[in-house]
Amino acid sequence: MGDLSLVKGIGPKSEVLLHKLNIYTIEDLVTHYPFRYDVLKRGSIQDTEEGGHIVIDGKVESVPILLRFKGGLNKMNFRLVTASGVVGVSIFNRAFMKSHLLIGTGVTVIGKLDKQKNVITASDIKLGMLSNQVKIEPIYHCTNGLSNKNISNYINMALLQFGREIRDDIPEHIASNYHFSNKKTALNILHNPPTLEKLKEATIRLKYEELFSFMFKINYLKERNRHNRSGWSKEVDFSKIESFLKQLPFELTMDQRKAAQEILDDMNATSRMNRLLQGDVGSGKTVVAFIAMYASFLGGYQSALMAPTEILATQHYYNLKQLLQEYDIEIALLTGSVSKREKQQIYKGLADGTIHMVIGTHALIQEEVVYQNLGLVITDEQHRFGVNQRANLTNKGREPDILYMSATPIPRTYALTIYGDMDISTIKERPKGRMPIKTFVKTTKDMKDVLTLMLEELKQQHQIYVIAPLIEDNENSDLTTVYELRDKMNLAFGSKYHIDLVHGKMRAEAKEYVMQEFVQNKVNILISTTVIEVGVDVPNATMMVIFDANRFGLSTLHQLRGRVGRGTVASSCILISDQDTKRLQIMETVDDGFAISEEDFKLRGHGDLFGTKQSGDMTFKIADLRQDYKILLQAKKDSKMYLLDKSFDNDDVKKRLIEDVNYKK
Ligand code: ADP
Ligand code: MG
Repeated sequence: MGDLSLVKGIGPKSEVLLHKLNIYTIEDLVTHYPFRYDVLKRGSIQDTEEGGHIVIDGKVESVPILLRFKGGLNKMNFRLVTASGVVGVSIFNRAFMKSHLLIGTGVTVIGKLDKQKNVITASDIKLGMLSNQVKIEPIYHCTNGLSNKNISNYINMALLQFGREIRDDIPEHIASNYHFSNKKTALNILHNPPTLEKLKEATIRLKYEELFSFMFKINYLKERNRHNRSGWSKEVDFSKIESFLKQLPFELTMDQRKAAQEILDDMNATSRMNRLLQGDVGSGKTVVAFIAMYASFLGGYQSALMAPTEILATQHYYNLKQLLQEYDIEIALLTGSVSKREKQQIYKGLADGTIHMVIGTHALIQEEVVYQNLGLVITDEQHRFGVNQRANLTNKGREPDILYMSATPIPRTYALTIYGDMDISTIKERPKGRMPIKTFVKTTKDMKDVLTLMLEELKQQHQIYVIAPLIEDNENSDLTTVYELRDKMNLAFGSKYHIDLVHGKMRAEAKEYVMQEFVQNKVNILISTTVIEVGVDVPNATMMVIFDANRFGLSTLHQLRGRVGRGTVASSCILISDQDTKRLQIMETVDDGFAISEEDFKLRGHGDLFGTKQSGDMTFKIADLRQDYKILLQAKKDSKMYLLDKSFDNDDVKKRLIEDVNYKK
């Protein structure tokens, strides 16, 4: 629909702020859904109990009196005339509102009622009265400098200016069958709900649409694979594979062997591989992937491994290089931060076949990348790649075999649906000699103990990860930030140990540099956001401390703690939180990713099940797979019928969805 700057009121400054919220297009903007709604239901003074919560509207009756205290604090008092009588209002730290609160101004006050004194201690005052008995206010994710009100205004302006261009991804006959409104109307309701009923209807419609288009694409890929099983046999030389396995620094587990065998069988078959390799963190999926890449090489084909982060891609690259150093195999690393000249070199090598294996990030699926004979494509941590990307890589080779790897175990019923287009191999068993990771839940009061435990690890030359949920301070949150933690850690350990940090907003080279320092044990404590969640492997790191642990889903915590316990020394994970400790304590006793994902699923819905809310496949904008499983199944059924019914082949929606799978990044 176009650029954000086309929306009236959005200037260059707000554009930058919107980017922080991952809003880049008008479409992103109008689908920046509220994460909750405040329902303001008008109360009355008589019906509210002593000390009870109240929402009430009325008109300002007296000029607000402002009291200022030391330390910049202030308090304002005024009288309010409401339908249920006059009441005093007092509110802290809203001096800036004084000029708006003229006598006669309509306001809505939210707070606690002291009946004795007939005063409301307000937590919030909103200008304007409630137009109905109930007001439903959308609450958005915000960022510093961009308030809820700003966001709401931008969205409504965008809907006003560009609403006509919003297309429906639900075919007409289905929409009318379910009495769905069009998308524009539904969006309008979502951002300005007139009633709870209407909001519910609109939400269901948008969820259905999201799941319908997702399932359509899955079904489409499945059909295409079925008709298209014209992969070609790689004729893998098993004796060479065996000798490669012999020189590995360890012996494969039974599950690894079995998975490798299934993969090699697929590659040897004439039909094309489309397989998901599922296995808990640390179960050793990478080496299985490397075996497949080596097999592909033996069969005379190139292979590509795509990782979700640059850190991970780089690590895979060095590992693979090392494992294959005795062989005459050319391996390249292609990521966003590779210089232009180097990139050109790599493109050339991939096109003329002098490069046999390439590891990288999304850069691997850029238009310019042409392969001479790509035979195998592997994506690591599959849940980070959207369904569109799944297809995109597919298009690169003639008919390359495809292997997806995921450390996010998901319940079987869901796997069958959302990975409906794939075969599945599972690694359950962990490599031998692994010590279990001891997990403890601690509160901020135990900080001293935590620091003592950390010091003990450091003294043994072990390394530590420290995780915070946030990078920068944010006006509406008091979560721990990485910078704050760096200061804290420096204070505690800085005189003797090296402390550094990585986070997602750092430039790739800077991140890489810090990670390398950590890998080489030059950094003792690495502070990080969840960017290190996926895949990174530093066996000497034996402790992980996670701040505000309650902010993470169990699956994410499990993935995070999977970063330690990779060597042969006992490792530990400390979860710090003052809230939600019951849920977190599950982590103390349960150590199996599948069990944790089931728990998580019961507790939180899919939110975390498929990884954090980053650009990924399972990260739906509005749908929630646990709550919306019925909608998912319906969407699955409907989309399949729609796909298979040839009379709809010229339908705009169908054409667009197919185009989306095939070409969109
Ligand atoms: P994940 O499945 O989470 O991607 P990795 O492939 O990163 O796990 O493996 C974790 C660690 O275990 C790596 O250091 C790897 O070298 C090691 N590893 C893999 N397989 C085995 C094995 N069979 N025995 C011992 N160590 C292994
Ligand atoms: Mg991995």
